[in-house]
Amino acid sequence: MPVSGTGAYDPGNIFARILRGEIPCKKVHEDQFALAFHDINPQAPVHVLVIPKGAYVSLADFATMAPAEDVAGFWGAVADTARQLGLVVPGYRVLTNIGADAGQEVPHFHVHIFGGRPLGRMVPAG
Ligand code: 5GP
Repeated sequence: MPVSGTGAYDPGNIFARILRGEIPCKKVHEDQFALAFHDINPQAPVHVLVIPKGAYVSLADFATMAPAEDVAGFWGAVADTARQLGLVVPGYRVLTNIGADAGQEVPHFHVHIFGGRPLGRMVPAG
C-alpha cells in the first residue's frame, strides 16, 4: 500500500500513460530506472521532469517501497539528466511535491529539475 497521503497508485495517471507511450513527451534521457522529459508548462528556461519506471505515488512511497537498486538508479538518472542538460556548472534545483500542501498534481513520483537562470529563494513568499 502507498504510504503517502495521496492514495492508491492510479495506473491511469498522465505520467503512467507517458511511460506506456500512450501520450508523447519531449524526452531528454531514458535508462532502465527513469524517464526524463520536458515539462509541458515550464516554470524556468529549463524545466524537466524525471520519473521512475515503477509505480510509486510520491517520494514517500518510493523511498519506502522501491528496491535499493532502483532508488540509487533513479537518483543517478536525475544527476545524469542535469549533466546532459549542461546545468552542472551554472547550477540547478531539484524539487519534488508530495501531497496536497505541496500542490502535487500528478500522482506518480517525479522530481522537477529547474535551471537556466538564477532561481531566487527556495520557497516563494505567501
Ligand atoms: P506536480 O505539481 O505534480 O509536482 O507537477 C506536475 C507537473 O507535470 C507540472 O509541472 C505540469 O506542468 C506537468 N505536466 C502535467 N501534465 C503533463 C503532460 O501531459 N506532459 C508533460 N510533459 N508535463 C505535464
